[in-house]
Amino acid sequence: MNEFWKERVILGAQKKMRKYPYLKGIITLYLTVLLLVFYIWNGLVSNTKKLVSLAVLLVFFTISCSFCAPMFQGDMEIEQQVFTEHLETEVITLATEVEVPEAEKAVEEEEVLPAETGVEEIINPEAEAGDDIDNYSSDEILANYDPKDLELPEEESGEASADDWKLLLVNNRHPIPEDYEFTLGTIRGSLQCDERIIPEFMSMLQAAKEDGIDLEVCSPYRTLERQEMLFDKKIKRYMNRGMSYMDAYKLSARVVNVPGTSEHQIGLALDIYTDSYKTLDEGFEKTAAGKWLRENCSEYGFILRYPKGKEYITGIEYEPWHFRYVGRSAAQEIMERGLTLEEYVEGL
Ligand SMILES: [Zn+2]
Repeated sequence: MNEFWKERVILGAQKKMRKYPYLKGIITLYLTVLLLVFYIWNGLVSNTKKLVSLAVLLVFFTISCSFCAPMFQGDMEIEQQVFTEHLETEVITLATEVEVPEAEKAVEEEEVLPAETGVEEIINPEAEAGDDIDNYSSDEILANYDPKDLELPEEESGEASADDWKLLLVNNRHPIPEDYEFTLGTIRGSLQCDERIIPEFMSMLQAAKEDGIDLEVCSPYRTLERQEMLFDKKIKRYMNRGMSYMDAYKLSARVVNVPGTSEHQIGLALDIYTDSYKTLDEGFEKTAAGKWLRENCSEYGFILRYPKGKEYITGIEYEPWHFRYVGRSAAQEIMERGLTLEEYVEGL
């Protein structure tokens, strides 16, 4: 870089300014930066000692950075606490990075990231990988029941209370209480849930069938071990794509509940899809089954637990297939007012 170069740059800039007068500001800024680099470079070249010490300094800085980085990944508990406290901020920050629905079942093969959007392809891991739970159509389930047992039972009366088992709030900030107990009931085969919600669920299945809608349960009650396995596999999948453990953990927590915080573990949540659409993605909301469930679930005590636009409250992506039992009066108020369980419980 000599004086000749400098002259050329200045002349070039003047020419551009005449041609594009409205870009004067940007060209001036550009010229200032170039001249600054020119003067610094010339100053350093004329003083070799300075140049060498600057290079050594840069090398040390780079090495120390790469040594320090892993230390920040050490204390997972502290990180998780910070994550929980700032969940709202995280949700907004990460909003453009994730989209996967409740990807609970591991997919061993790598998924493709569309190059332009950087958004993961929406897949249904459960359907692709198969599941170790039984799959029954509503006809197969209903065939096992006496028609008189399919009538909607009497609703329990009484004031709504936050202590009610039906309203137990479970999310990333509210883990399942250690002493929480309930009795498992069987819908059919290995399909299980809290036995207290079975009568209303069966009535819902029957009513849907009468309206020509086939509902299938793809994720019922889940053990802690199974939740841990699903969560770990999700983390591994993200890490295989080059993410750090903490980034993979945070991202996983948005699509799969952290073990100990899943409503599937308390037997009050069911993932429901339909024979003609066995994909757990947003497209389910447009199916007849998706619409029927949204419109009628509250009559049977269920709510759409993770609605669209409320991710900053639930901490979980929109899931048009995940239904949670809360009891009929609460369900009706929640669905009519477009609330989340978090908002409803807070108002009690
Ligand atoms: Zn679910």
